Amino acid sequence: MGSGLFKKISGVFAPVSCPGCGGSLRGLDSEKLCPTCTGSIQRSQEPWCLTCALPMRHGSLSTGPTRCDSCRGGRSFDQARAFGLFEGQLRELVTRLKYSGDRRLGYPLGHLLHDAAHEHFTLQDYEAVVPVPLHRDRLAERGFNQAYLLAKPLAAAARIPIVHALDRIVGRTAQVGLQGDARRANVRDVFAAHPRRKTQIARRNVLLVDDVITTAATVDECARVLLAAGTKRVDVAAVARTP
Ligand SMILES: [Zn+2]
Ligand SMILES: [Zn+2]
Repeated sequence: MGSGLFKKISGVFAPVSCPGCGGSLRGLDSEKLCPTCTGSIQRSQEPWCLTCALPMRHGSLSTGPTRCDSCRGGRSFDQARAFGLFEGQLRELVTRLKYSGDRRLGYPLGHLLHDAAHEHFTLQDYEAVVPVPLHRDRLAERGFNQAYLLAKPLAAAARIPIVHALDRIVGRTAQVGLQGDARRANVRDVFAAHPRRKTQIARRNVLLVDDVITTAATVDECARVLLAAGTKRVDVAAVARTP
């Protein structure tokens, strides 16, 4: 309530600008990106892997695979879906949020994540929204967890509690340059279920939230830990998917 009042008051004095491009948001929803920014984002489009939403070429569907090679081996999560492809404008905005500390982008990008989740999932089915956690050293360095910022509009709109059910217990494990199995091995035992929050996820459906899905190794490992802690089903929502 307090922040809503602040927004109203500050809106009277300060012109509201789009956190994406700096253009005016006069008369528009100040929590979202302007239509130009939103319109310039390349949406994720089918055909994609039914499990991890990896874009698949039309030609490869004639032989019938509806899952990518990585997912055919089985995943801990049921389905992952993202708003757009991690390229162009969306890539720039997510990068600014994560690496330039531009946290003003958290809410607007979170609205896009909510749009995608609303489109692909039945949100009433979930009883907890779990952001992929950062290690405490990274959190201290960055000052915020981008996955948590992105989860907020969805949790508010769908009235689902955000549960910090996972801890990242191992620090930096750079995924850059690693492929498939190596990425999977690299995130093994990096996450643990928070001991005092297991009751909030046990026997429940969880929507796991992350910023970008690349090989899906990270969200798959998070889902594995959640299932081991008693979660019934895990689906994943992200802002972006690497093509
Ligand atoms: Zn804009
Ligand atoms: Zn896949």
